[in-house]
Amino acid sequence: MKKVLFNELYYRIILFLVGIILLVDVSCASFNPSSYKSIEDCVGATGVFVISKNDPGYNDARVGERVRFQQYPRMITYPTNTTQVQQLVLCSNTFKITPSPRNGGHSYTGTSSLNDSLVIDISNLNSVDIDTVSQTAIVGGGIRLGPLYIQLAQKNFTFISGICPTTGLTGVISSGGFGLQSRKYGTTGDLVFEAQIVMADGSILTSNSIINADLFWAIRGGGATYGIITQWKLQLIPAWQTVSVFTIEYPYDPNLFSSVLKSFTNFGHIAPDDLSTTLFVTNTNFKIVGHYLGNNDQIYEQLSNASLLTYNGSPIKGCDRESIEQNFLLRCDHLGARAYFLDPNKTCKRYDYLNIGTSPYASNNFTYTIQNVTYPPAATAPGVVTQGVLSVYSPGPLQAREDVKTKSMYFDGPLNDTAINVIIGLLKQMPSGSFAELLSYGGLLPTQSTNLTAFFHRNVAYHLLIQAPSTSDPTTNAWINQWDSNVRPFSNGQSYQGFEDPDLPNFPQQYFGNNLQRLQNIKSKYDPQQLFSSQSTLNTTPASKQTSSLFGTCPFVHDETVPARRSFGNKMFNLIIWDKIMINLWVIVIFLIW
Ligand SMILES: Cc1cc2nc3c(=O)[nH]c(=O)nc-3n(C[C@H](O)[C@H](O)[C@H](O)COP(=O)(O)OP(=O)(O)OC[C@H]3O[C@@H](n4cnc5c(N)ncnc54)[C@H](O)[C@@H]3O)c2cc1C
Repeated sequence: MKKVLFNELYYRIILFLVGIILLVDVSCASFNPSSYKSIEDCVGATGVFVISKNDPGYNDARVGERVRFQQYPRMITYPTNTTQVQQLVLCSNTFKITPSPRNGGHSYTGTSSLNDSLVIDISNLNSVDIDTVSQTAIVGGGIRLGPLYIQLAQKNFTFISGICPTTGLTGVISSGGFGLQSRKYGTTGDLVFEAQIVMADGSILTSNSIINADLFWAIRGGGATYGIITQWKLQLIPAWQTVSVFTIEYPYDPNLFSSVLKSFTNFGHIAPDDLSTTLFVTNTNFKIVGHYLGNNDQIYEQLSNASLLTYNGSPIKGCDRESIEQNFLLRCDHLGARAYFLDPNKTCKRYDYLNIGTSPYASNNFTYTIQNVTYPPAATAPGVVTQGVLSVYSPGPLQAREDVKTKSMYFDGPLNDTAINVIIGLLKQMPSGSFAELLSYGGLLPTQSTNLTAFFHRNVAYHLLIQAPSTSDPTTNAWINQWDSNVRPFSNGQSYQGFEDPDLPNFPQQYFGNNLQRLQNIKSKYDPQQLFSSQSTLNTTPASKQTSSLFGTCPFVHDETVPARRSFGNKMFNLIIWDKIMINLWVIVIFLIW
């Protein structure tokens, strides 16, 4: 009797579990995009929050942090889970509307908000689950760097990536990702174990060094065009107890600058791996900013031995040991050191600079009221967005949107005298609101293979970033364009894919070097119909003038590798459903036999 009862209970539990499996599957499978008349209906059926062209928040929602290329997507959606991302991709695919995945909205050419596209903003997929034993974290693909650093710090960990807290982790990893600690630990993409990706056919792939390893290689530095990444598994770094940071401001004298520039490029790339240095120049000042992992008592000696504190053999005024120690050097905790680079007053205390909410950007020239609180315009920046309503607000300082033009180039070694003279000539004419930033590479990177991941720029010494206000002023435009004509010939010709520049004559090659062909093959394998746009990496038309179409003649994949053009919406959907039904039938049969 007891045994019969036990058996009955046992079967009931099994039936209950099978029921749950069926229920879960049916809830995914019951979404049939081809049963809707339009993309609007299809998206509406997913239940996600949507902003369309006539909605009041549209202008604010469509614009990211860079506003040079204004684009007008059809709808902006905010899914809250991976199933909704799948459904949105299926809608895109069925109605042939390009999906624009968006994370931090920092794309220089607005590729996360393309014209007439369906923006899939995954900011809500921002969970951070830390495993302190394995020193790993599973994080949502929508997390931004600031919130990531803050949450990791609560468990005494950190991660290697960029400074700007509003930048999206997924966008950075897709670019490769270089941070102030990369000289010691490698790129952001080097410190990733696994990704979960929603593919063009709505399926979810796991990708790591064993499963779909080619895709895993590509998504770390190979551009963002293979699918929508909804989750990452990261290798965490135990947080440093102390980080030494410093800013050495020099008197503004072009002759002195020439000497410092020369010494800097002889030193930065061969400095100890713990030390990351950047030379930063505007039209009114120039300085070296440094970040050392630990408590560095040797900064003065290191900079002095590199001739960065002397000019013509004599000490530079204000750069003696005491001044360096007392006026320029700060010892911070690791989070404070990140805040230091954001704080104009150069303290390590303004952690709130890292505390970015879901709508972190503000336009420059208007105040706005949300939840009865009036916010002023964001800090001044060269560009202005004239319209906008901030629809959601989360605490944290707002970052100004910027309308700027940039140039990115890499150098393989120290600059020679001719290059220095050309650079000084251009710096002397620098328009206001512009800057030049020379960042030291070297350290671990040149010891790694240039095809470790798709991020190619490892065997380099410096990265130069030039930024100017984007304007119709011919003098400013001519100035920034001269960096291409006059300075790029001294570089190795490469350019960072994270700083997209539509002016580059051959940018796929310049972004990906010898990794390009392999990336093209992987793209054609995983997204043969080119649902996801490759404009960020391949199209030579400025993004503002591009029109997106699912089956456009994007040159990313060579024509011969592109399968015949056809609609696969219905067929693909049926395949997904049959797949699920067959799996469920098998589960039931196995249980019954058992
Ligand atoms: C102010 C500023 C500071 C920066 N600092 C650094 C730095 O220190 N180090 C560094 O390495 N780089 C830096 N960058 C460059 C940065 O890495 C790239 O601009 C990056 O692409 C931005 O990512 P995002 O998610 O913020 O932008 P987004 O515009 O949201 O995305 C960028 C690209 O990734 C795609 N994408 C976004 N989310 C997904 C997803 N989930 N799945 C698939 N594709 C997706 C978008 O469609 C778009 O093509 C900086 C850029 C700016 C503007």
